[in-house]
Amino acid sequence: MDNKPFIEAYQEINSRFIKLLSSMSALRALSGFEVKYRNEDDIIADSLSVLLEYHELDYVAIFMYQDNELKQVASKSWGDDAAHADSKYKEICKGHRALLAEVEATGEVQQINQVPGEDFTGSASAIPIHSSDSLIGVFIACHPADEFFSVTNERNLVIYCNFLGQLIMNNRLLHSMDEMVTERTQQLQMALDEASELKRRYEELSIIDDLTRLHNRRFFFPETRAALAQAIRYKKSFSLLMMDVDHFKIINDRYGHAVGDEVLKSVADTLRAEARDVDILARFGGEEFILALPETDESGAMVMAERIRTKIKALRWQAEGKDISITMTIGITELENRSSNDYVEVLDELLQQADLALYHGKDNGRDQFNTYSDIASLIDTGEQTG
Ligand code: GH3
Ligand code: MG
Ligand code: MG
Repeated sequence: MDNKPFIEAYQEINSRFIKLLSSMSALRALSGFEVKYRNEDDIIADSLSVLLEYHELDYVAIFMYQDNELKQVASKSWGDDAAHADSKYKEICKGHRALLAEVEATGEVQQINQVPGEDFTGSASAIPIHSSDSLIGVFIACHPADEFFSVTNERNLVIYCNFLGQLIMNNRLLHSMDEMVTERTQQLQMALDEASELKRRYEELSIIDDLTRLHNRRFFFPETRAALAQAIRYKKSFSLLMMDVDHFKIINDRYGHAVGDEVLKSVADTLRAEARDVDILARFGGEEFILALPETDESGAMVMAERIRTKIKALRWQAEGKDISITMTIGITELENRSSNDYVEVLDELLQQADLALYHGKDNGRDQFNTYSDIASLIDTGEQTG
């Protein structure tokens, strides 16, 4: 009996079985790619390596859409010398464009089964890479044999490309989700920054005087109470200066409110320049300022008051062709003069004392400073006019 036909059939089935096995192995390798955020170029390069490993292919290349045009993003050859293979398959490579155009037009697999080159003949297959319904790229496989791409061969490659298309799309989705999360995070951060800037501005507005940029009473009271509590507890010296511009109303009346404002700003700048970092300076009222001096006794406060008085008196402004100058009267008191140890009560008491010393100066010619210690006895003897 002639069993040759059986042997041929067996060989054919065996060969198909081996190809199927290779193809399944390639798919299994592709499905083993880590499903995590990856660079698309790496996925494509790895997928080409897998194909070369499991399919009898000589040269593979992948084209993806970039700016609406299919561009080659990777190629690989058996032996890993893609540049050499590019030239080896130059006839096929020349035909790439036509093959690609065909795939784009039909969305179907295209083949070149005989490529008679000068020193080479071979075949090529161009397979669409789809994601859902859209074409995202084209895979090209080359083999040195004519008519290499059988129906089975082709079908296996199509399955592989479908799988690859899905993998690429999933990866792109992961990327875009990651970008979206980053963008949203940035937007959120910006909104938070804006909110905290607004909060800072609001807080600043509520404790900073608009005209002079000095702190206002709202800032002064809690800060000074805290400083006083420390001074009382640790038995440190502490003094307070209350300052009022003399006859300021005349400036406003003669030269207008705007000039008055400029004068107040310069007075504030002068005071700011004199105050130390630990001092608490504030605009207390219209043309009245207050300065708390931690760790400073009455004699230190007097030196400071004299310096301020002199500096303020030396300031000059021009209005209506005239030189404008002002003077300032200052009342001083210190912690030694207190009658209580409750820092809230003490602050009220010191403010009253500094005010009395200030108004004593107003009644006695202005442009001067006085200490409460000096005028207290006058008050006791009824000489204070209030
Ligand atoms: P004295 O020497 O007794 O302190 O006299 P004075 O004129 O300085 O005091 P008075 O309290 O009579 O007048 C203070 C003036 O300060 C009246 C008010 O219109 C003015 N003033 C208060 N706040 C401002 C301000 O922000 N800008 C301007 N330009 N003037 C102000
Ligand atoms: Mg005044
Ligand atoms: Mg006043």
